[in-house]
Amino acid sequence: MKIAVVGAGITGLAAGYEAAKAGAEVVVHESAGRAGGRILTSELAGQLVDEGPDAFLARVPWGVELCRELGLEGGMVSPSQRAAFVYSRGALRALPQPNVLGVPLDFDALAASGIVSPAGADRARQEPDLAGSPLAGDESVGALVRRRLGDEVADRLVDPLIGGINASSIDDLSVRAAVPQLAEAASRGPSLVRELRALAASSAADPHAPVFYTLPDGLGRLVDELADHLGARLRLSSPVVDLGDLDADRVVVTLPAAAASALVAPVSQIAADLLCGIDYASVALVSLAFDAAEVDHPMAGSGYLIPAVEGRTITACSWASSKWAHVGSADTVVLRLSAGRYGDDRAVAMDDKALLDAVQADLAATMGLDTAPQAARISRWEQSLPQFRPGHLELVADIERALAHDAPWLQVTGAWARGLGVPACIHQGRQAARAGVVENAAAR
Ligand SMILES: Cc1cc2nc3c(=O)[nH]c(=O)nc-3n(C[C@H](O)[C@H](O)[C@H](O)COP(=O)(O)OP(=O)(O)OC[C@H]3O[C@@H](n4cnc5c(N)ncnc54)[C@H](O)[C@@H]3O)c2cc1C
Repeated sequence: MKIAVVGAGITGLAAGYEAAKAGAEVVVHESAGRAGGRILTSELAGQLVDEGPDAFLARVPWGVELCRELGLEGGMVSPSQRAAFVYSRGALRALPQPNVLGVPLDFDALAASGIVSPAGADRARQEPDLAGSPLAGDESVGALVRRRLGDEVADRLVDPLIGGINASSIDDLSVRAAVPQLAEAASRGPSLVRELRALAASSAADPHAPVFYTLPDGLGRLVDELADHLGARLRLSSPVVDLGDLDADRVVVTLPAAAASALVAPVSQIAADLLCGIDYASVALVSLAFDAAEVDHPMAGSGYLIPAVEGRTITACSWASSKWAHVGSADTVVLRLSAGRYGDDRAVAMDDKALLDAVQADLAATMGLDTAPQAARISRWEQSLPQFRPGHLELVADIERALAHDAPWLQVTGAWARGLGVPACIHQGRQAARAGVVENAAAR
């Protein structure tokens, strides 16, 4: 069985790994001169610092499992600081605990946090007693949260968290595709908060278990391990422009939706047209290193989020050297700042100087950090984060149906499908490879 994988981001690398494990003859084609796609670790001020993703969720098994199989599990590390803050109403304020992706489960803690006004906290307090029907079908996260908890919780807590992860506004984001935990709670009964509390109470998960993991050399280490594992089966600088050029029985395409659409069009115009309907957001990630002696801030936590309604350039500031024991040193403080979201390309479009000036103005205003960095690095990730609109899962099912009919030898997946996080991409890549090697799949 010959399998060709197109793309060597984490989805394609995981697909190649799985196909090889299943005994297939596999070749992974990558257009760039390096593997990893959005995962890239490079040096900043003498340290390895991620330019894209810097951690993966521990709650889902797929990232941890792959690290274990590659012998990396012992080296996995979790954040040394868990507290997170939101810059809201003129100050950095701790996220109220407990919360599920910003949805507060304790209304007294919400009121005490000061993140929303007293009126906003009172509006949220009504949630458990509000009449309403459980979630039916799909809707936006924003529609659900605004209806149940009011605009302030939506704009100042849930949008910075969930919108931040997806570089999206929660008003455009499918609750089923982007936050299945909220969809599950909202389907169980009329009160979102009561159901989230019940799910938390019945969960067997250790509340002190790590939420995220990374590798001390950055997530690039995972890419390097997978690339080493594939060896000569990974072909860099090898763009695929026509699926017909591939010498393979089965093909797994793991490209962003627009690139996948172009490749798939000759074999399934329906799937290609549907893939074209998936939009992407662009983001910039600015990494800064400071002389620790010049930073007069405790940074007692993992960092903070800035709601879009605050009108700043940055959407999040990770106190990377506080969050991770392996980043920074007694002399050096490292921060990672995110900017940009769907519909807001200002940061990505700015030149380096304008972007650095805007970021530094935001740092001065939000955490009083008014000193020049020793080193700065700007990573622009254009068209990098797929947008899961309401109805997204039906769209993905339609793409899969069209492909199963038109080209059963072909699997097409990636971050745009059912999850954009690193573990979801690993899972989707491995699943696609397994589907490609099952005995009954039709060969080309
Ligand atoms: C700034 C940023 C921060 C993020 N932070 C996190 C985080 O902390 N945690 C988390 O879990 N997720 C995070 N994500 C999301 C996650 O990193 C991505 O969704 C994931 O890495 C995408 O992997 P992929 O393999 O599907 O796609 P990609 O990484 O886009 O890989 C696709 C590959 O295909 C190649 N390619 C394109 N066209 C062709 C062709 N014609 N022939 C051959 N190869 C081709 C590309 O060069 C690329 O290498 C972040 C994303 C970004 C942009």
